[in-house]
Amino acid sequence: KASHVQKKCSLQEESLGRGSFTRIFKGSKTDIREGERQNTDVLLKVLDGSYKNCWESFFEAASLMSQISHKHLLLVYGINIMVQEFVKYGALDLFLRKKQGSVPVSWKLDVAKQLACVLNFLEEKKIVHGNISAKNLLLAREGDSSIGTSPFIKLSDPGISVAVTVALDRIPWVAPEVLEAPETWGMECDKWSFGTTLWEIFNGGKAPLQGLDPQQKLMFYENHEQLPSPKWTELADLIGRCMEYDPALRPSSRGIIRQLNSLITSDYELLDPGLSAHA
Ligand code: ATP
Ligand code: MG
Repeated sequence: KASHVQKKCSLQEESLGRGSFTRIFKGSKTDIREGERQNTDVLLKVLDGSYKNCWESFFEAASLMSQISHKHLLLVYGINIMVQEFVKYGALDLFLRKKQGSVPVSWKLDVAKQLACVLNFLEEKKIVHGNISAKNLLLAREGDSSIGTSPFIKLSDPGISVAVTVALDRIPWVAPEVLEAPETWGMECDKWSFGTTLWEIFNGGKAPLQGLDPQQKLMFYENHEQLPSPKWTELADLIGRCMEYDPALRPSSRGIIRQLNSLITSDYELLDPGLSAHA
């Protein structure tokens, strides 16, 4: 006999602020399964009224996320208001900035490998995410190397597509070919964004190209410039390969995983013995 499941979602007073296109609330979801109540914290994303014209894209992002599942991909429970699992430690860029350089390199490498793992999953499903960035990586578990636990990240929804919004704000995360011709949008775009995100992770959550105005950001792409290379040459090489201006030259997700696995924290430590545990 099928069990009777009732679902209820309640909106709490607690507003968590705004995203680029959204208003964010914390809520809780109650499932009643055979008389037993189960509460789960959820995050509610509502499209901000001034972006009503982006509704279709918001809906697409929500429905994409609710159709696929992977351990490093955020769960989405509902789509009219996007109801998602609440991820305790929030966005990775904010987390890294808050920690101010006290995060071990091995921790960062762990996070990068988890992102590569979900990138590979998306590539196998032939799904383009389109908005991979440190702010869209949510931290579900902090991890503490002194007691042997690793961090655990979840990739959030892509939000509004660059096809329907001003893409300039998304430089240098958006692949340059997408700005020129949105129809060239493909698997390779996510590789570029992965490179930018890797740069953010290893630069303590610092915003790349901070302080540049939109016109200068555009020039950055027009001149085929690159973000400042990290000192760790093996890492710099991987970022550079992902951020190739020619999409055909970017590595496959398998290639990325292989290269990440060959990065050895001790190489980094040799560079800067004083900073052995931290980057
Ligand atoms: P984009 O539209 O490019 O994704 P954004 O990431 O700033 O922009 P939102 O995805 O709406 O906008 O998220 C806003 C903020 O809310 C995030 O930066 C993060 O701090 C927080 N947040 C988002 N989703 C969750 C979640 N599931 N759990 C906990 N916090 C979240
Ligand atoms: Mg987001």
